[in-house]
Amino acid sequence: MATPTENLLDWLRDAHAMEQQAEKMLKAQAERLEHYPELKARIEQHIVETQGQQELLGNCLQRLGSSPSTIKDMSAKLMAFGQAMAGMTVSDEVVKGAMSGYVFENLEIAAYTVLISAAKAVGDSETQRACEQILPQEIAMADWLRDHLPQITEAFLARSAAPNTEAKR
Ligand code: MG
Ligand code: FE
Repeated sequence: MATPTENLLDWLRDAHAMEQQAEKMLKAQAERLEHYPELKARIEQHIVETQGQQELLGNCLQRLGSSPSTIKDMSAKLMAFGQAMAGMTVSDEVVKGAMSGYVFENLEIAAYTVLISAAKAVGDSETQRACEQILPQEIAMADWLRDHLPQITEAFLARSAAPNTEAKR
């Protein structure tokens, strides 16, 4: 068994590892994008947000007398590296990347929804506030990606059909 506070701490560490993974994936995507400047700029904006999220989560962990899990953070980074490498080998990298980004943002939305609920149950209003600050950033990023998927797809298709034009990134 575990107390609600222990579960909350566990989920905070998971979220910190998730944000490490997010930063690594977003950076890999932004660094490679060349022909999709709007997407690149939005990803770069979210990298800054993601770093702020890591700090907020780190502060919550510290306040609760814990710290981020190095092992979880490391395996998250490794996973992100694997995903980034896999993404580079596909000819429709930009489309697959935007799709994966949308899925990942929704995972984050679910994680913070759970955390807010757990923080409420424990009566940890500071963790609740931190997660309520993060959640809208994830929703905004998910919404942006979904709204722009058609445009990204159209741009990719046009570049893909043109001679001597790189489309994938
Ligand atoms: Mg995030
Ligand atoms: Fe995010």
